[in-house]
Amino acid sequence: MQAHQSPITDVFGRPLRDLRISVIDRCNLRCNYCMPKEIFGDDYPFLPEHELLSFEEMTRLVRTFAQLGVEKVRITGGEPLMRKNLDAFIADLTNISGIKDIALTTNAFFLPRQAKRLKAAGLKRVNISLDAIEDDVFKQINGKGVVTLPVLKGIEAAQQAGLEVKVNMVVKKGMNESQILPMARHFKGQDVILRFIEFMDVGNHNGWDFNNVVSKQEIIDTIHQEMPLEKAEENYYGEVASRYQYKDGQGEIGVISSVTDSFCGTCTRLRLSADGKLYTCLFASSGYDIRSKLRAGVADDQLTKSIAELWSLRRDRYSDERSELKRTNRPKIEMSYIGG
Ligand code: SAM
Ligand code: SF4
Ligand code: SF4
Repeated sequence: MQAHQSPITDVFGRPLRDLRISVIDRCNLRCNYCMPKEIFGDDYPFLPEHELLSFEEMTRLVRTFAQLGVEKVRITGGEPLMRKNLDAFIADLTNISGIKDIALTTNAFFLPRQAKRLKAAGLKRVNISLDAIEDDVFKQINGKGVVTLPVLKGIEAAQQAGLEVKVNMVVKKGMNESQILPMARHFKGQDVILRFIEFMDVGNHNGWDFNNVVSKQEIIDTIHQEMPLEKAEENYYGEVASRYQYKDGQGEIGVISSVTDSFCGTCTRLRLSADGKLYTCLFASSGYDIRSKLRAGVADDQLTKSIAELWSLRRDRYSDERSELKRTNRPKIEMSYIGG
């Protein structure tokens, strides 16, 4: 069947273009802004195996999404490299008509072992999370006392395997704003795009407070004073990062400003959790259970119809509403469950 038979739009005219799949809710790290170790301890009720969607189920869903307009798939978690046979899953996704881009978000810890296999399976790019370049700061953040070397080795392995690398750093006041410049200095002139992410109020346990947000403008000003920057053009419609290039031609950085400069108006993302729930927004309180439909033997046309209906009714614009001070304190899904 041809892809893009019936591209769909939501209530505000936003097309469905991107899908983020969380393949697992577990992680080897306990970053304090995502899975604080006090909450995600040994007795935390992670999803049992049978509740996870199988890769066959996920592949069937991606085929359906592709028919409705999805072109990009991002694989995330928890830590996606903890799910076995991820490379075979990626290879299956590359064969789906209409899917033009497959990417992975990872903490890179297991990349030295897996980078070559992932590249051979058809993966083109990885986003690697690293919130500090100094060991003492990074150890505090990741909750497991892990130093930066394994992550840096993961970055190197990805580059050697021929994967394009972006590094993502969440910036939170009092946690790691001291690392903005050291990180920029470290990655400048390397073949790596460093992207800063404003600390967001995802989930229910990260103690978010607007006072802990380091704004896009503060980040840019900090770097610009030492290493002059100029604004760069958007690469494509709906790009989440604002791009800035170094004036001396030594590469670029990006800032994802979902708090101080939200971008709901061009949000084309749908999220699939590891247990088969669809979320039309990162800040949603509840998801649409697609797993039970799959396991009840739903026919392809019915599956397509349900997803199209879900998207056509979408009216989420949480971050814009937050900026308009309409934020409500409703419960939200956890970042480690939905994967960012
Ligand atoms: N474990 C993988 C990793 O860390 O890259 C993938 C999952 S992680 C949930 C995906 C991304 O979400 C990471 O870049 C992480 O830093 C980011 N993230 C988690 N909690 C966040 C928060 N409260 N605000 C902003 N970004 C957050
Ligand atoms: Fe794990 Fe990624 Fe969350 Fe850190 S940000 S705890 S690495 S899922
Ligand atoms: Fe998209 Fe929701 Fe984020 Fe807005 S708040 S950009 S609608 S995920």
